[in-house]
Amino acid sequence: MSDPSIFTRIRNGEIPSEIIAETENAFAIRDIAPKAPVHLLVIPKSEEYRNVVELAAGDPELLAEVVGLANSLAAEHADGDFRLVFNTGPNAGQTVFHVHAHVLAGGLGEESLGA
Ligand code: 5GP
Repeated sequence: MSDPSIFTRIRNGEIPSEIIAETENAFAIRDIAPKAPVHLLVIPKSEEYRNVVELAAGDPELLAEVVGLANSLAAEHADGDFRLVFNTGPNAGQTVFHVHAHVLAGGLGEESLGA
């Protein structure tokens, strides 16, 4: 069994980061290195899926729950509009292989197309 991901360790309280929202199967934190005025991460509680392709194939309802939480957070923390980014694979900038959505909002420029 591999070590718990950094996000699981945050959820378990081993690494400090406020859980800003939670649903039955997902939770949200602020990104430690924000690339937009609002930059949040929405993360399934299970680390079974490494990326969004695996999540979509394995549990589409959980993917919908992640998108729904992103939508609520964008309404709460910005004007409701948001960009949802799933970096998929190291060559696309993925560094944590526990699927997570970047929620970018609050005055986006072209420069924050990536996350
Ligand atoms: P990825 O590069 O895999 O798409 O996204 C991982 C994200 O996790 C990065 O944007 C990075 O800034 C964020 N991150 C990494 N370590 C931590 C941490 O300890 N706390 C928080 N809040 N975010 C983190």
